[in-house]
This record gives sequence, structure tokens and C-alpha cells, in this order.
Amino acid sequence: MTDPRSLDIDSIEKKYQELAAQGLKLDMTRGKPGADQLDLSNKLLDIAESHTASGIDCRNYGGLDGIPEARSLFAPMLGCHHDELIIGGNSSLTLMYDALIRAMVFGVPGCEKPWIKEEKVRFLCPVPGYDRHFAICETLNIEMIPIETNAAGPDLDQVEKLVADDPSIKGMWCVPKYTNPTGTTYSDSNVERLASMKTAAPDFRIWWDNAYAVHHLGSGPAPLKPLLAACQAAGNPNRALMFGSTSKITFAGAGVSFIATSDANKKDILARVGKQTIGPDKLNALRHVKFFGDYEGILDHMNKHAKLLRPKFQAVDRIFTNEISGLATWSKPTGGYFVSLDTKDGLASKVVELANAIGVKLTKAGATFPLSSDPRNRNIRIAPSLPPLEEVERAMEAVAVCVQLATVRAEQ
Ligand code: PLP
Repeated sequence: MTDPRSLDIDSIEKKYQELAAQGLKLDMTRGKPGADQLDLSNKLLDIAESHTASGIDCRNYGGLDGIPEARSLFAPMLGCHHDELIIGGNSSLTLMYDALIRAMVFGVPGCEKPWIKEEKVRFLCPVPGYDRHFAICETLNIEMIPIETNAAGPDLDQVEKLVADDPSIKGMWCVPKYTNPTGTTYSDSNVERLASMKTAAPDFRIWWDNAYAVHHLGSGPAPLKPLLAACQAAGNPNRALMFGSTSKITFAGAGVSFIATSDANKKDILARVGKQTIGPDKLNALRHVKFFGDYEGILDHMNKHAKLLRPKFQAVDRIFTNEISGLATWSKPTGGYFVSLDTKDGLASKVVELANAIGVKLTKAGATFPLSSDPRNRNIRIAPSLPPLEEVERAMEAVAVCVQLATVRAEQ
């Protein structure tokens, strides 16, 4: 544990100047899979089959909700029945965006009017969270209400109070497992409370982005209570919109996405989507079915990812423990793609600036908050997956020096 007052500013300034002289070019910004992870799925590129076992010709139009074989393969990932699943295109983010656009333009089952006709639409946003969720709300002029996240997920006392009183709160973003960026997995009790809480808006929906459903770092996927079943049990069957994809399982941006929801929501979605497309890419879905075989095949595959990713996360934790204990705190995720670093209040933007100036690109300070505004200016999202291990180590050594420097300068 380092006491900032015990740090020698001259030696830290010197270390920083030495790093600056190295001409580093390191990028720790986005949570992309590394090339070695992508290589794990290269056999997908050799699969040239066209028909499913049940005889569907995937080269032709048809099957708006996707081939049954793909729905059966991916349903266990979200913990739902295969009939509740719709297969989408290459991106779950597109499915989430489209679901929100549809709600704005057409409304959702049980609503009085399209959301765009409401005076105000508000969304609850657990923080720190996924910047692209917040960007969607921003473009649609949806007001975002930040919700503190703790070890069991979002602060449910705060959530329950807000949704009970305010009918303009129509939705909530959740990344329920290995959340981006803190690595938190929601407790069963939190899932049950989200499913059963009283909402002033009768058409309240939860955008349940289970992007990291099977993305553990070596200990097997964490258990997560499925929201859809919990909502059905609580008498709120239409509340859950659950999303997932294989972007960080096979190929990022060239995988298969899916959404699971109630019968009424599914009918509504398919009625709208049927005007937008004649059907999803069945050939890619079939390739994934052939590649994995079954859900066990997905789990085996994710064990291989874990082996590649784990040393990078261990390196981040080791270096931070050695260099910045007492100066900052950080998450110790057992899955997902990020480490969430909290500097002392007010220093995150300075640390990012110092790092960028010596060639270590970090995600913009504040990016993990609605409107990029971190009220305590302390959170930095670290993405260790893409660079090779040796680069992760060099980048983290440099970030540690930047944290030290920002902290001692602030103490002076
Ligand atoms: N959801 C979360 C929480 C993510 O972190 C990401 C990618 O980083 C995505 C969704 C994007 O998923 P997709 O590639 O399926 O659009």
C-alpha cells in the first residue's frame, strides 16, 4: 500500500520522461479480441454447407426468426427457450438500437403511444457502463439517469424508488454478467427485484445486454438468473429484452446476434422486422451450428479464449498491485473484457492525458458515464484483450507511472 506522501516526485518525473523517450505506440482503448483469439475460429471459414439437418436450404430467403438449429444452439447462452429467440444479423448492438428505435416510432406492446410522442423519455443507466449504450440514448434524446453499481449489480433501492414514481422512465440498460467495465455479475436477488419491481410506466422494458454470457477467465461462466423467466414468474412477461452475440466468441462483427423475449414482444418485433428484411443470414448461422455442434461446444471454445486472456488480466492486476496500491482501486474481473480503474477523485482525465502524451492510448476519461461525464472524474476503462501480453505489460507499467505522477502532483 503506497502512501502518496511517501512518493518521490523527482524519481517519478524521471521515470515518466524515460517512458516518453521510448516512443511507445500502445493502444488499450477498445475491447476487441486478440488475433490469437480470432484464430481459434478459423475453421469457420472452411465450412461451406448449405442445408440444415432438417433440410432448410440456407442459400435462399425465408425463416424470419432464424434457423431452428441456431435458436437451439444459442438459447442456453441467454437461459431461455429456443422458441423465445430470434436470430439477427452480425451485431447485437444493432438489435438493441433497432429495438429502441421501434419503441420510439411504433411503441411496444402495452404502451399508450409511441415513446417519441411522450413529453420525456428517461432511461436508467448503471454506471460505470458501456459507452455505446449511452450514445444510443444520446442520439435519440433520451435522458439518462446514472445508477450506482455495487458488487451485486445496480443499486436496486435507487432503481425501485425511481421507476415506482416516474412514468417517463421507460427503460434501463443492463450488462448483467461480467459487466462492461467493472466485471460485476448481477445477484439472483437483484434479477428478481428487477423482474418484479413496480414501475409507473406500464410499458417499462429492460435492455438486458448479455454480451459476456460465457466469457469467463478460467473459472467457467458465472451463474446468472435468466431475466425473461424471472419476469414471467413475476407477472411482467414483456419486461425483458435479452440480447447476445458471438462477436467475442467467433469473429467480432462477423458473428451471429440474437434477441430473446416474450411471445407478445416476439410477435411485435417480427411484424416490424418483416418490413425491414426478408430474413437473417442463415448461412453464417449454419456455419456456427456446424462449428460448435452444441452448447457444450461453445463452452469448450470459451475455455480456450480464457486461457489466452487470463495472463493479460493477471498482468494488469500484478502491475497495479505492485505500483499503485493505495493510489487507486481497480476491479478484479473473473470474466468479460475490461478492468475498471478508479483513480483518486478528479484525476482520471489527467492520467489519460499523461498516458496519451507518451504514446499509450486509453479510453477517454468519462466515457463510461452518460454524456461522457464522470461526476468524480476518476474512472478509466482498461481493455487488455487486443495487444499481445508483452504490450499489455508495458502499457500497464506506463499507466501506473501516470497514476503515480498525477497523484503526487495533485498532493503537492
Ligand atoms: N454489448 C457490450 C456490453 C459490448 O461490450 C459490446 C462490444 O464491445 C457489444 C455489445 C457489441 O456487440 P456486437 O458486436 O454483437 O454488436
